[in-house]
Amino acid sequence: MTDTERPVTIVGNWKMYKTVKESLAYVKELLPLVQHATARVYLAVPFTSIKTLADFTKGKSIVIGAQNMHDASEGAFTGEIAGVMLKGAGAQFVILGHSERRRLFKETNQFINSKVKRAIADKLQPILCIGETLEEHQQGKTQEVLANQLKECLQGIESHQLDNLMISYEPVWAIGTDETATPEVAQAAHHFCRQFISQTWNEHLAKKVLIQYGGSVKPENAKELLDQPDVDGLLVGGASLSAETFSKIVNCNVGIDVLPHPN
Ligand code: PEP
Repeated sequence: MTDTERPVTIVGNWKMYKTVKESLAYVKELLPLVQHATARVYLAVPFTSIKTLADFTKGKSIVIGAQNMHDASEGAFTGEIAGVMLKGAGAQFVILGHSERRRLFKETNQFINSKVKRAIADKLQPILCIGETLEEHQQGKTQEVLANQLKECLQGIESHQLDNLMISYEPVWAIGTDETATPEVAQAAHHFCRQFISQTWNEHLAKKVLIQYGGSVKPENAKELLDQPDVDGLLVGGASLSAETFSKIVNCNVGIDVLPHPN
């Protein structure tokens, strides 16, 4: 399987960090640092920053998106946000099923499935997060967990609707822990996901679907992960909070010095 048609995508997930002012300052710092990037740069920002950043980055090389959404189109869901609202504010993609949503907010595969369907209907590119816990990892259940999450989170969705979907393999034991999966472990999991998609949907979709790795990615380990044939991108949490650090990850396969000259 060739990976030549799959563009490298680096997604920063800011989680619940940065005010609107801080978000804008970050993007102003990041833009010149990634001007030579060959990877696509996505930022999943707090809801409050979407409109400002989407307006500011219009026509520029950074894509703005959200970290979550509700599965209903609208309704009496105090404190929730709908896909059409995100889309209207300028979001182009949405992260769904992040392990923090699953663990802290008890999101199930069924709820995530419903959100994926809504995101597709609302023309938001879904980034579906899947991954096993430490216990499941230690019990050798990684493939079983990934297969079940893919099956249930993508239940009832046709292959042509999944055209734009991105998957993020994020082993829960590697998120925010400083413990990154080895390139070999990441590659094996990504390869398994691609095979599962080929068997469940079709080979064409499997060849096309972008599968990112997430879990304690840093400038020091980004390139070896991206060098794996089935690793098409990275989802970066903590290390995306500094524009300079994130730019080093974005540029890890460019091989040029993009740091600003010291004064
Ligand atoms: C994440 O938020 O999805 C993530 C991978 O976080 P971190 O890079 O901090 O492990």
